Amino acid sequence: MVQAPISQSEACEQMSTTLDKLQSKLFISPLTIPADQFLNTIYPSIPKKVKSTVTEISTAKNVCEICEAKLSKGSKRAICKQSGDWEEETLVPSSILICCEKCYKVSIWSELFGIFMRESLASSSCDSLELTELVEHYLTVNGHKLADITKFNSAISLAVSLNTTMKKLNMTFPSKSKPIDKLISELVVS
Ligand SMILES: [Zn+2]
Repeated sequence: MVQAPISQSEACEQMSTTLDKLQSKLFISPLTIPADQFLNTIYPSIPKKVKSTVTEISTAKNVCEICEAKLSKGSKRAICKQSGDWEEETLVPSSILICCEKCYKVSIWSELFGIFMRESLASSSCDSLELTELVEHYLTVNGHKLADITKFNSAISLAVSLNTTMKKLNMTFPSKSKPIDKLISELVVS
């Protein structure tokens, strides 16, 4: 029996659901982006306000909200998690999290992909130390065994495919008109 081809939105939804099932805490996904980049995208005319807002959110947090590692002042990063409204082809910001450097590099898939590309282009005698560390962090935080590397590989390939399909859909943010303070308080509380 030949199955009807699925639309790009349906493909995104399926990939996103499969990704969610693979990861319980630390997400590799193009739906997670740096918080300042996210805020600058929706409020490009008020960069100063965006910067102070991100600093304000991070000031009170001393523990990574993903892996619970202790955070020092210089090691804090902020990410924004989003979900896709695939039918509407829009992105919905769901939370802003303060996290450690390792969780940041795993969550922001372009960072992870950058490290992956750099290390695979480097000489073969050079051990992929940073990538190995990040893969181990991903597996441990998500409660997988270190031998379960296929879980990491599946997540990264799904994230790349999701990113490619999302680009074709040219998804937009629906919340542009909301005042920045209101949006931030909703994201941080929820
Ligand atoms: Zn962390």
